[in-house]
Amino acid sequence: MLLIIMLTLISGPHPLLQEQALRRPLPCWTIDGSDHPENPVDILHYDLAIEVFRDIQEIYGITGITMTSAGTTVSDIRLDLRQLTVDSVWDATGDLAFHQQDDSLFITLSSPLAPADTAELFVAYGGFPYHESWGGFWFHPYITYHIGVGIYTPGQCMGKCMFPCWDFQNDKATYDFHITCPDTLYAVANGDSAGVDYEAGKATFHWTFDQPLPTYLVTMAVGEYAVLHDSTDSRIYYYVYEWEIDDALGSFTNVDLMLANLESLYGPYPWDCRFSLVETPNGDMEHTSAIAHWANAVNGNNYWDWLIAHEMTHHWWGCCVSHADWQSIWLKESFATYGEALWMETYGEDEYTEYMVQSIMIPYLNSGELFPVAYPETPAQIFSYTTYEKAASVLHMLRYVLGDQDFFDSMNWLFQQHMYGLITNQDFHDAVEYVTGEDIDWFMDTWIYDWGYPVYDITSSWTGTLDAWELTVELSQVQTTGPVFEMPLEFLVQGVSQDTLVTMWNDSAYQAQSYQVSFEPVDVVFDPYSHILCGNVLTGIEGPSSPPGGLGTVHLGPNPCRGSATVIWPGTENWDLTVTVYDMSGRTCLRGRLVPGERTLDVSSLPPATYLLDIRGEGSTRQSARLVVLE
Ligand SMILES: [Zn+2]
Repeated sequence: MLLIIMLTLISGPHPLLQEQALRRPLPCWTIDGSDHPENPVDILHYDLAIEVFRDIQEIYGITGITMTSAGTTVSDIRLDLRQLTVDSVWDATGDLAFHQQDDSLFITLSSPLAPADTAELFVAYGGFPYHESWGGFWFHPYITYHIGVGIYTPGQCMGKCMFPCWDFQNDKATYDFHITCPDTLYAVANGDSAGVDYEAGKATFHWTFDQPLPTYLVTMAVGEYAVLHDSTDSRIYYYVYEWEIDDALGSFTNVDLMLANLESLYGPYPWDCRFSLVETPNGDMEHTSAIAHWANAVNGNNYWDWLIAHEMTHHWWGCCVSHADWQSIWLKESFATYGEALWMETYGEDEYTEYMVQSIMIPYLNSGELFPVAYPETPAQIFSYTTYEKAASVLHMLRYVLGDQDFFDSMNWLFQQHMYGLITNQDFHDAVEYVTGEDIDWFMDTWIYDWGYPVYDITSSWTGTLDAWELTVELSQVQTTGPVFEMPLEFLVQGVSQDTLVTMWNDSAYQAQSYQVSFEPVDVVFDPYSHILCGNVLTGIEGPSSPPGGLGTVHLGPNPCRGSATVIWPGTENWDLTVTVYDMSGRTCLRGRLVPGERTLDVSSLPPATYLLDIRGEGSTRQSARLVVLE
């Protein structure tokens, strides 16, 4: 008897379509040279005074900067500042010489800063602040707010759109905020409130954050906020639109439980201040202690809990232990995305597995991406299914390989060794090997540093009588891209009234193994607990339509567009593509088919707005993208 084992899990409607698109728009620059070198000075503290003028959409600010030399004597410094004009720079001795060029502000210090000396200077600046279509400083009709990470912007860090700073995570600092706005509004920033001053129709809100934080996690928001305080956990606050209090009460019922769950996994909330969600119009961003939380997700129910779990997990992974550079973004997004599944695990093991498969593995496998987790080469690859969903699947598999105890011990060791600092791929690798005493090169080399994922072709057969049966499992790895993957693989041998689990340590492209079982098998189920990220999750065998080099990432051009846009999806040139266009509320606005050679999408019938595109190719390949349509 011979049977082919197929694990067929049919993908339903993409539950994460909106979020996938929100966090993966289409940057068009290259990441070469966008990383910062070491800062010659170590900035210790920023004191930010910012006044918001909503009617003219400008800000005016004075930033006090306290710094020390990072090692050598320094006479001049360079800071980042985008699109805002500096009026003056001074220190205790008087005015300092400065000039601005592109996104840089160059300042000559009044006297050379010797090693171990500290200096304080002040920069007065103002103007119409910059934002791209995601990150930067925004004047929304009723909320003024800042998002610290750019997706279209080289270097990613957007602190420079709000204040002069060293805008890269290799220099962390503490912060004070003094935000002035009309006294009918409320202003919130990172950390804890330090009081409010009222004068002549204006209010100045003081906030303070006294632990080291990179500039991309700094935020402020001004609006008609109601302040809600969680009734169970006194550390938790919510800043929501005054007219959405009822929805907030319905949507935030589990936040205290999430915080408790994360503390049980990774140790106490690592910040000495409150934890809060700040309602903003444009999606979620993990600004430390003041998450920008998407207004559409404040809807009266718990559907978006996974999104809160994601951003909250960043308070350990990303905010406290930060990725050393943006190519290593998987070190934070893997944990945050896996945090969504760990939240589901509080409901039960089945809920955890269901989430891993349906919301993490399948979206990755459907994306067509094959490049290595450790080596995103374009901005689109930084904010990709590989750095989020594949990397989260890697944590899921590492936990399976190590067992719960060693996995969480390793992650806690990694966290504790690098709190408030930076981590690299090697730090991750070293932590696991230190805690477990085992070599995990075989795991890291394939899953982190190499391409793709395994696709298994499996057959099984058995012979025997009564209570002595020999089961033979034959397995081939048939993926066309990537290495031979080494993994322990489980098979559930099912009989009429009993079953048993057998394991094969698979480390070659073809392998056969026999097992003695005491009952007659009727079926053999591969990977019954969905431990393995593999092509079999989708179809059982690799579809014939995947090109050998894999698929690229969808680009739309121009974007924003007028009338029409071209869909560019490398690797699919000979395919028909089906494109569905949704508006931001998820309503279908347009559906069409693009044949080979014709990749122009006519959007002239759509009113100007931002749209989400679901683009499907052959087999189950699928990607999403965001398109801005202009008048
Ligand atoms: Zn994230």
